[in-house]
Amino acid sequence: MNPLTQLARATRPIYKKLSTSATLSSAKPIPTTGFCFELNDEQKALQELARKFTREEIIPVAAQYDKTGEYPWPILKKAWELGLMNGHVPVHCGGLGLGVFEGCLVSEEIAYGCSGIMAAIYITEVGQAPIILAGNKEQQKKYLGRLIDEPLVAAYCVTEPGAGSDVAGVKTRAEKKGDEWILNGQKMWITNGGVANWYFVLARTNPDPKCPPSKAFTGFIVEREWPGVVPGRKEQNMGQRASDTRGITFEDVRIPKENVLIGEGAGFKIAMGAFDKTRPPVGAGATGLANRALHEATKYALERKTFGVPIAQHQAVAFLLADMAVGVETARLAWMKAAWLVDHGQRNTVLASVAKLHASEVANKAASDAVQIFGGNGFNTEYPVEKLMRDAKIYQIYEGTSQIQRVIISRELFSAAKQTA
Ligand SMILES: Cc1cc2nc3c(=O)[nH]c(=O)nc-3n(C[C@H](O)[C@H](O)[C@H](O)COP(=O)(O)OP(=O)(O)OC[C@H]3O[C@@H](n4cnc5c(N)ncnc54)[C@H](O)[C@@H]3O)c2cc1C
Repeated sequence: MNPLTQLARATRPIYKKLSTSATLSSAKPIPTTGFCFELNDEQKALQELARKFTREEIIPVAAQYDKTGEYPWPILKKAWELGLMNGHVPVHCGGLGLGVFEGCLVSEEIAYGCSGIMAAIYITEVGQAPIILAGNKEQQKKYLGRLIDEPLVAAYCVTEPGAGSDVAGVKTRAEKKGDEWILNGQKMWITNGGVANWYFVLARTNPDPKCPPSKAFTGFIVEREWPGVVPGRKEQNMGQRASDTRGITFEDVRIPKENVLIGEGAGFKIAMGAFDKTRPPVGAGATGLANRALHEATKYALERKTFGVPIAQHQAVAFLLADMAVGVETARLAWMKAAWLVDHGQRNTVLASVAKLHASEVANKAASDAVQIFGGNGFNTEYPVEKLMRDAKIYQIYEGTSQIQRVIISRELFSAAKQTA
């Protein structure tokens, strides 16, 4: 048996103990002891498995996937077999019911190897988050259970050609006809758009422009194979090129009423609420990328000589590395706190934005500084850091841009200040 499979078999019963059943209603109790920065044995086992998988299966092929833009099915299937995907799927659907924290541990490790492959493996969980948050038992069993039975992926369809940051501007509409809903519209920039088995789709169901967003939209589960679901071409992006991003057109798609999440008008809250669980792992991914930039640049700085000494001995270079280390440490602390809060049933919306924003900025600075430290070599595809710089950029855009995270954080600041005034 392959050593990774052996490790996965040995550790699975251990990290199964981490199970929280991963639904909002079954949050872990808040520990009564004080702060602790130590992972428990189960978390260490999961992290070690993800780290080994990244070193052995992802790093050696990352440049090739970046070049071809091929979807990394062989890697995804191995990750699925090892239990490194879908960890948060509730136990009643056959999953492990892990927390957001554990998902973040895996995301950081995998993004260290390739954040494009991490997007392919992880963003299925963004599609699943609304079902974990708001699906009934039957919906969860049918659609999340399917991802446990087979290596399939899901996608989260909210953005449209005319509406990204301004989600309330979504124009895709669904009309009720008897026991069905008829869906029409166009989504854009959907990760896993061409490879997903099913989608979470946000559509406007109340045409009255005066209807508030909190009541105007409904969330649906839509299957890829249903007539009228038409994914577009794979987009050629600057970075994270192993990930599959597409537009999707919905033409008179018939959705049974059983596929409505919660009920008519609940969609906006579900789509936004999912970010509390999905932004910390995106922050963890950006942290992994920044850590890779730090490690590559440190190794290079100790080897490359100018003026008779390794460039690490030039203070200007050493300080760039020190600043990268500060970024990695603080980005990690931020995702840890955001994930811990939501796993313990605490409101984490602001912390999720802090984690996602900070890690995205850290990743972009670290990757750009790594290119600087590599000099001319850094600008060339023979070295790993130019890919990090291209891959980092999207962290400031998807899952809410850096500006939108600042809007969320500052809005909360003002609201808290008004309450104490
Ligand atoms: C590779 C990739 C993968 C993606 N995956 C998905 C996915 O799986 N599912 C999905 O639904 N979407 C996905 N997206 C879409 C992504 O979430 C949006 O691109 C993003 O939210 C920004 O929306 P936009 O592109 O329409 O930019 P816009 O909203 O048009 O923003 C343009 C600029 O204006 C700024 N801006 C906008 N409003 C404000 C404001 N109020 N205050 C300050 N600045 C503002 C923005 O920060 C940005 O800099 C993906 C995008 C990409 C590129």
